[in-house]
Amino acid sequence: MLMCYNKGMEEIVMDVRNCRMCGSLYNYIGGPYRGLCPRCVQKMEDKFAKVKEYIEENPGATMTMISEECDVTPEQIQRWVREDRLAFADDSPIGIPCEGCGTMIKSGRFCDKCRANMANGFSQAYAQPEPAKPQRKTDSNAKMRFFE
Ligand SMILES: [Zn+2]
Ligand SMILES: [Zn+2]
Repeated sequence: MLMCYNKGMEEIVMDVRNCRMCGSLYNYIGGPYRGLCPRCVQKMEDKFAKVKEYIEENPGATMTMISEECDVTPEQIQRWVREDRLAFADDSPIGIPCEGCGTMIKSGRFCDKCRANMANGFSQAYAQPEPAKPQRKTDSNAKMRFFE
């Protein structure tokens, strides 16, 4: 919902929305917790701190245990892992699938192998485009010489 306020001379357009968690109206600003009011963002940050502490103290905890102990949905926990804010211990039973190959990983979006592949792909993309150029240059040089 868009609302316009006249504040002195300048018109301020505010994007006012209902918070997904508590339903209260707030001025939408985006950010990592889309759809939440500043108060609920703060609540989520508190929960994040709690989850992080819980994982550190209980490296063997399952997703269900963390979710129930900290009162956070597994989806939210996964989101934090994807954002690289949370990482599970190597011997933790929890993992999330790599977005490239589906291998279980402990944090981020891709496994080491996919990350390495992507890095190679990038350097190849930067290294490749050159070879065709010199040919074309001599061509146009030849043509120019012809017209001279
Ligand atoms: Zn809220
Ligand atoms: Zn992978």
